[in-house]
Amino acid sequence: MIERKPLIAGNWKMNMNVNDSTELINIIANGIVDYDRVDVLVAPPFTLIPHVKQLIGNSRILLGAQNMHSEISGAYTGEISGPMIKESGCSHVILGHSERRSLFKETSYEINLKVSVAVKLGIIPILCVGESLDQREAGQTFEALKDQLDVSLKNLRDMKNPDISTIIAYEPVWAIGTGKTAAPEQAEEVHQFIRKWIEKNFDSVTARQVRILYGGSVKPGNVSELMSKPDIDGVLVGGASLKGDTFVQIIRYS
Ligand code: PEP
Repeated sequence: MIERKPLIAGNWKMNMNVNDSTELINIIANGIVDYDRVDVLVAPPFTLIPHVKQLIGNSRILLGAQNMHSEISGAYTGEISGPMIKESGCSHVILGHSERRSLFKETSYEINLKVSVAVKLGIIPILCVGESLDQREAGQTFEALKDQLDVSLKNLRDMKNPDISTIIAYEPVWAIGTGKTAAPEQAEEVHQFIRKWIEKNFDSVTARQVRILYGGSVKPGNVSELMSKPDIDGVLVGGASLKGDTFVQIIRYS
């Protein structure tokens, strides 16, 4: 049987500074010294990446960026490329977060380019997908997710590159930062849908290996129930990843 090691990932968004991140990383590092049942990742803002990389040292904490540009280099003022985040020590990159899609008008087409560049560079993408409240209420959840997956992973599908290290994060937009969490059964239903999509578009071995995370108002009080579902392989945490003790409680959910 294929084991999918859970991943607990913290997305710091545009928060933290040198002092606060030093404290936070120390708390996380101490909190996982005797606990290796899960992989742990933090995604700081770009400017903190080198600092956090140094703090992480030999601890098992993985480092991710929150975004990257789809070009390798060039005249793109204000942007950060894949080789840059890789050189700074990131093994992962969050792509297609709903805040990027809604506030910065990123399309699945652009996200597709970023995903394929990340994979070519050996950076593991954490691709975020999720339906809006309107789409859920109109009964269009699966359609919306299919569209996002079809386009955001088009190049990987065309390349017939299953790249099992790619991670998908299901983040219902209505649950992000709102305090509303999808019911574990609701999340599991969508995770099953995503796994079937992977099977159909790649193959069954890939579908069994790819980790699918849930994100949206995860906290110590709801993580265990979410993680008890067979197709939920980890969580992507926003707000609750900024407090060391809280994030460690989430990491040590079982
Ligand atoms: C997120 O931004 O990916 C997220 C899930 O945020 P929060 O945990 O704060 O809802």
